[in-house]
Amino acid sequence: MTLSPAAAAYPAFLASHFPPVSLAEPELLPGREPDELAWQSRWFAGDFGRDFLTVAGEAVSVIDFGWWNHGAGPDFRDCVITLSGETRRGSIELDRDARDWDHHGHSTNPAYRDTILHLQLGVRSGSEWFTRTDEHRLVPQVRLDLATPAGDFNTPPPAPARPGRCLQVFRQLGPGKTITILEAAARYRLERKATRLQRTAAIHGRDQMLFQALADALGYSRNRLPLTVLSQRLPLRLLTTRPDDAEALLFGVSGFLTGEAFDHADTETRLWLRRLWDQWWRYRDAYAPGQPRLPLKWNLTGTRPLNHPQRRIATLHLLVKHWPTLRRLLQPDHFSEKALLTFAAGLHHPYWDRHYTLRALPAPKPMALLGRNRLTEILANVCYPLLIPEREDLWPVYQKLSAPLDNEKTRRAALRLFAGHPDLAKLTSKLWQQQALLQVYEDFCLADDSNCAQCPMPEQAQSP
Ligand code: SF4
Repeated sequence: MTLSPAAAAYPAFLASHFPPVSLAEPELLPGREPDELAWQSRWFAGDFGRDFLTVAGEAVSVIDFGWWNHGAGPDFRDCVITLSGETRRGSIELDRDARDWDHHGHSTNPAYRDTILHLQLGVRSGSEWFTRTDEHRLVPQVRLDLATPAGDFNTPPPAPARPGRCLQVFRQLGPGKTITILEAAARYRLERKATRLQRTAAIHGRDQMLFQALADALGYSRNRLPLTVLSQRLPLRLLTTRPDDAEALLFGVSGFLTGEAFDHADTETRLWLRRLWDQWWRYRDAYAPGQPRLPLKWNLTGTRPLNHPQRRIATLHLLVKHWPTLRRLLQPDHFSEKALLTFAAGLHHPYWDRHYTLRALPAPKPMALLGRNRLTEILANVCYPLLIPEREDLWPVYQKLSAPLDNEKTRRAALRLFAGHPDLAKLTSKLWQQQALLQVYEDFCLADDSNCAQCPMPEQAQSP
């Protein structure tokens, strides 16, 4: 990852005290176990890169990541790799541990016969364990580096919400030096997001990368994984080539087109569901939600009705419907926040404009499908990370974005670093400052288990 000089100040700031592991996403640190769907999603997005060494020391490059198989058989089909310079085609399987290959019966299952690569999640089995097909062909193994920076589907456990040791230091430093530190952290976070987006674009193309990144932002914060996986199971190309069926496919694959949805529906909802069902039944056998080995799990606990995943899926469908316009708006030459706001304000749906969920009664007034908070998420996590590396003039525009009000993690970080600070608003009211706080919080507060005593931040902040 090549950083700009503005961003490079931050890892240099960290590196003198923390070994590289502290720069990894905290949820990937040992002991944290995102579920299997999250690991597969990250692999397919290219988070681990494409060049590896097998456990036997051979160079392997993934030329084509193939397609993600959600049914029986290997996880990824029709992949292409080069192994020590030789091209191979076949399937790729991802397991937590090398021994899972045998435990899951793959070694005797002909469906796994064409496997060309066996990925493992960096878990050592103790003794060596060989991966063999039912024809006794040896399958090369790659152990993925879990410290590879990636997204954060799994929220790390919060550090205690209490003022930290650096509090006094930041007060003494004053806003000037503190803002310099925050700027480097924010820039570093933004460029790391950009690298991740570019990596996905290199594998799946710019449009699919955008589609996945927008789905991820729409899923924030409780349904990021299922919405991202939905955009991977139903790639943009499939949806844009079936414009009349795209909405039914999205709701059907999500698992929301069930008989139960009909049972509780009012007349308007039944009419809307009937139209989707008329299209969905043709795809149901191939995409039925009970079919995937790892079905999507929606988190509805504590979700505000306005943020219900059904509304987010409806918004995703509208983005697909208006893709040519949105795609153009997100080109470096055409992007402007104002144009994106106008686009968002023009997104309407005859049913979802007035419904919170499939079960709710119609709301008295229309509700925005892509409101200000969701747009801020898209600007912060998709537009500016993608565009600032090509348009430096957008950095000051990004810095003007106000911070969202309801972010628990940034509130916690602000309390630890700046509680009672006389310039609190000056240091935390902008979105870029909250992004910087999150980076510091993840790299320092979540990595600290000494109750601040051994955290290097206070000393580093005072260094010239
Ligand atoms: S862990 Fe470090 S950065 Fe976090 S509050 Fe304590 S001293 Fe500050």
